[in-house]
Amino acid sequence: MESPRRPEAAGHSVSRSSFGLTVAALAAAVALPSATPLGAQFGPPQTAGPQWLNADTTKKVNQSNFRELREWPTPNEWRTASGTPGPKYWQQKVDYVIKASLDTVKHEITGTERVTYHNNAPDALPYLWFQLDQNVERPDSRAALSARPLPKSLAGLSPAALRAVGLGSEQGPELGMRIVKVRTVGAGGVRRDAPFFVNGTSMRVELPAVLASGQAAQLEIDWAYAVPETGRNTQRNARDKVKDGWEYEIAQWYPRAAVYDDVSGWTNDQFYSQGEFYQEFGDFDVTMTVPHDHIVRATGVLQNPLDVLTATQRARLAQAMAADTPVFIVRPSEVAKPETRPAGSAPISWHFAAKNVRDFAWASSKTFVWDAMGFRYKPGGRLIELHSVYPRDAMPLWDQYSTKAIKQTMVTYGRMVLEYPYPVASNVHGSVGGMEYPMIAFCGARPRPDGTFDPSLKWRLISVTIHEVGHNWFPMILATDERRWGWMDEGMNSFIQYYAEKDWDPAYPSNRGPAKNIVAYMKDVAQVPMMTESDLVYANYSPQAYAKPAATLVMLREQVLGTPAFDRAFHEYAAKWAFKKPQPADFFRTLANGAGEQLNWFWRGMFYTTYANDQALGNVETQDAKDLVGNTSKGEFYHRITVEQKGGLVMPIQIGVTFADGTGTLVKLPADVWRNNEKTFTYGFFSSQKLLQVVLDPNEVLADINRDNNTWKPVAKVVP
Ligand SMILES: [Zn+2]
Repeated sequence: MESPRRPEAAGHSVSRSSFGLTVAALAAAVALPSATPLGAQFGPPQTAGPQWLNADTTKKVNQSNFRELREWPTPNEWRTASGTPGPKYWQQKVDYVIKASLDTVKHEITGTERVTYHNNAPDALPYLWFQLDQNVERPDSRAALSARPLPKSLAGLSPAALRAVGLGSEQGPELGMRIVKVRTVGAGGVRRDAPFFVNGTSMRVELPAVLASGQAAQLEIDWAYAVPETGRNTQRNARDKVKDGWEYEIAQWYPRAAVYDDVSGWTNDQFYSQGEFYQEFGDFDVTMTVPHDHIVRATGVLQNPLDVLTATQRARLAQAMAADTPVFIVRPSEVAKPETRPAGSAPISWHFAAKNVRDFAWASSKTFVWDAMGFRYKPGGRLIELHSVYPRDAMPLWDQYSTKAIKQTMVTYGRMVLEYPYPVASNVHGSVGGMEYPMIAFCGARPRPDGTFDPSLKWRLISVTIHEVGHNWFPMILATDERRWGWMDEGMNSFIQYYAEKDWDPAYPSNRGPAKNIVAYMKDVAQVPMMTESDLVYANYSPQAYAKPAATLVMLREQVLGTPAFDRAFHEYAAKWAFKKPQPADFFRTLANGAGEQLNWFWRGMFYTTYANDQALGNVETQDAKDLVGNTSKGEFYHRITVEQKGGLVMPIQIGVTFADGTGTLVKLPADVWRNNEKTFTYGFFSSQKLLQVVLDPNEVLADINRDNNTWKPVAKVVP
């Protein structure tokens, strides 16, 4: 989802050091001075004992930042030591046939689903667990009971903040999911009531017989729930009243099989709403019966256009799919007009189908304007339909940017991760600020009632659209476990989002991605390691799960590995884990294996701890080369620049050197220089000139948390 708070932006410096510009401008023109480092054996003598940054000297154990990571699981035949699905990798498959209807008087969904559960696990299952996320809205949910108390004053709280504390609900205690019946379907279609047990947001269903490995079970579940206007999960599933009527964004709405995997067994943790989801893949066939005047968008491909669209709309859709700019299917002037709907007044059933998706969501409203266009990765290639639906309240804005932002997502993520494999991608406007489901995203940016908006709202719509559509890759295709590892979902997505924004406009005001934007958070005492389960992160989820991992991966790509090595390994990760369920160690192992670097120090520093990078300049000395080596063949001078590591994190070193004549160079040293001494490193080199200035990390690309100790200038000689 899109996190409502973005505190990582506060206080970061947007100024660029003048040195960075100097280096950039001069880099091409200046012949680099000879810089020949001497071997480490010539450096200052080591003090007694290893110089480890985070050493507890009472323990005589290996505490090097570079040591092996013992946190990783032992490789097995399901997940190998190179981070690859093993020869016996398995995952469950769960198919759904759902029939649901929307009652716009009671604001209620009623549904019945046929679940086919394919047990591909090596073990037999005596019961199945389902997720009932709507139960988070119940007053006795764990989320409600563990909620923080109200502040002393509610003045100034946004509607979203009020929703988050459950205020304003019209429906009182009736929220939550009502399970009407659970039946098993046996041989010959014989139905039997199945005992079930609801534990908060989870439901265990007893099977009549143990479900053997390789076998499938069928169940039918009838349920109902009221769609909340305000509540604990209305950042995902909500109704919203706009000028032309109600809009419904329907998600996490049907009893969904919990994940059973080789890592955690059943993922039947309570749903608190911060850790969003972890789902099984399956095929969906869903029919939604809605009021006659509604337009529906959903996960999947529309199966019955002849029943639900007018001839005009079908003709416009065909035209839109051949167009490279959005075409209106329902024009603003046509909203809620009878001619936009088939004849009659009875409720209409919209039928969608989707293959190999983790979930299914939809939106329904009589208020929708609808535009669409086609997208192909190459001319004549496979068609991908791009759709946006939004009320007139969202104009002007959505009509200009939404569908184009979906296209940008297809382009950038297609290049950097893998090509979008699904046939449809839609973006829906409503009260949900930003949320993702397979092939459909919800996004909330809306102009003021008079139609005006700040320029920042345009960027917000584009960013949130890219983000939510981008979630198709993380976690809908690379199907990670966000109930535990938010960074693999929000963080990897925010990382690629940054490049999509740069593709949209090189001057895009990106919030997440640049290393300097996480400096404030790296100093935050409330920070927890990225390897902390989503629902155990008490505060600052936005920088923790979004901004820090995004900047971390940008640093890994651009500063540690270099883009060709990173991109090769990242593409390998995407290719081998698409439509599978990678775990953190699978990612770490794939990157290190594919890029050819030992990265234990990086994973440990950035993911498993809250260590920060604080490099400081120590001594800067210059000696006449003649005195040292007897000639000036390598330059007139020999310089020694000492860099100290004051934080807990080793990182590569970048030293911006300005010479006496104003020319400069950027010295880049790998993190390996800290291998034998993590606290101090002295870099020595010859040059033909004296030094005018030395700056550490001059381009602010390594998230150095204290820049006050990063600059050196020669002390002016005191003239007597
Ligand atoms: Zn997100």
